[in-house]
Amino acid sequence: MGSSRQRFVVVGGGIGGLVAALALARAGQAVQVLEKAQAFGEIGAGIQLAPNASRVLDRLGVLGAVTADAFFPRRLVLMDAVSGDELTSLDIDDDFVRTYGYPYFVTHRADLHRALLDACESEPLVTLLPGSEVVEIVETEGAVLGRCANGASYEADAVIGADGLWSTTRATVFGLDGPPRDSGYVAYRGTVPMPDVSDAAARSLVDCMVIWLGPHYHLVQYPVRRGQLRNQVAVFDTQIYGRDTDDHAEQLRQAFAGCCRTVAAGVRLLDTSRRWAMMDRDPIQTWVSGRVALLGDAAHPMLQYLAQGACQAIEDAIVLADTLQESDGSITDAFSRYQAARIPRTERVQLNARRFGDVLHAGGMAAAMRNALFATRSPTDSGPVHWLYAPGAERASEGEPPIPVRVASAPGRPQAS
Ligand SMILES: Cc1cc2nc3c(=O)[nH]c(=O)nc-3n(C[C@H](O)[C@H](O)[C@H](O)COP(=O)(O)OP(=O)(O)OC[C@H]3O[C@@H](n4cnc5c(N)ncnc54)[C@H](O)[C@@H]3O)c2cc1C
Repeated sequence: MGSSRQRFVVVGGGIGGLVAALALARAGQAVQVLEKAQAFGEIGAGIQLAPNASRVLDRLGVLGAVTADAFFPRRLVLMDAVSGDELTSLDIDDDFVRTYGYPYFVTHRADLHRALLDACESEPLVTLLPGSEVVEIVETEGAVLGRCANGASYEADAVIGADGLWSTTRATVFGLDGPPRDSGYVAYRGTVPMPDVSDAAARSLVDCMVIWLGPHYHLVQYPVRRGQLRNQVAVFDTQIYGRDTDDHAEQLRQAFAGCCRTVAAGVRLLDTSRRWAMMDRDPIQTWVSGRVALLGDAAHPMLQYLAQGACQAIEDAIVLADTLQESDGSITDAFSRYQAARIPRTERVQLNARRFGDVLHAGGMAAAMRNALFATRSPTDSGPVHWLYAPGAERASEGEPPIPVRVASAPGRPQAS
């Protein structure tokens, strides 16, 4: 690398912010991560990471640590939540790993975040600053200043706004584009000890990532912590059942009233004390303003239906670090290459996530047609998701599907116990 060391401030220490800090530090840059929470951490339960994310984590030297307690499902399965029948599946076992070079895995968010935090803590070029809520970003001659609510200010050569769906960086630097788009859907999520899963049909799918599809609702189930816990996410449309309610357990029960016994048994195990509104934004055509760039949900918040929000933040991070190296340290050049490479890609993922949500939540005739089409698929056909997972996809533009690559020697796919 011909460039000299620069100072970066990353706003936000979520998955995107930590991977960005790591990628920049591995590229020789000094990074301060300003996180508003008093301690770094992740809430929520499980997370799925596809080969496009595993590949980046391996390049950064953290795939082993991140997958230490992960689970490697055998199949991605779509089930009919009403009849209990299997609709279609995708094998993600050894052949899939050979095709994409990297595994699809599921893990606990806390485990993923902890592994990234450990890597940042042992990286001398990264400084982690919890309790630092950025409230203002000011560009000065040749530098940029992040001011925090606690009165501290940090000067840097560039700022990366990785501060999530409600990004202050996006609002203050790029002008208010209003609140995110509320899809009307909400999610309840949590984990249960695997021995509590007693339903026979559910047990037969314990080594799979399963989505049960019903009209206006779905339930996701997969193992985490090496299979000791089962993660569950129940999602439904409050436009049908009402946004405001005092009795969340009852509303969840009503939304899943028509489902089969296996799904009902899973839904009963969910904690209803907290729920998440499913929100996204329309794609935007610039993520860069002077010495400030957006990354992750701050740049491209998406619905979770393709399980790609964090994967895309991870892709952003490596492309940012790569473009900086390619630009010989010129921040303006790097930022413009970064957004040129990333916006078409993430726009495609954002829009397809919405469309896939419509497919998941279809009812009546639309669901019957979907199911008939699903029945014609082969479980080894990864064609429909190839554009998401293939090597090089992180810089592929809309209309330019990445070239299929078959990797001869894939890294081992550890067998979860
Ligand atoms: C139900 C559900 C399931 C999902 N499943 C998956 C999945 O399986 N796979 C997948 O890839 N993605 C999934 N996602 C999406 C994924 O969780 C997000 O895309 C990802 O966490 C975004 O990471 P981020 O770092 O960009 O933002 P965030 O995780 O939101 O992190 C932002 C960080 O910035 C901090 N912050 C905010 N404002 C400030 C400020 N002013 N100053 C300092 N710090 C600040 C916050 O405290 C936070 O730590 C799912 C999302 C949901 C809701």
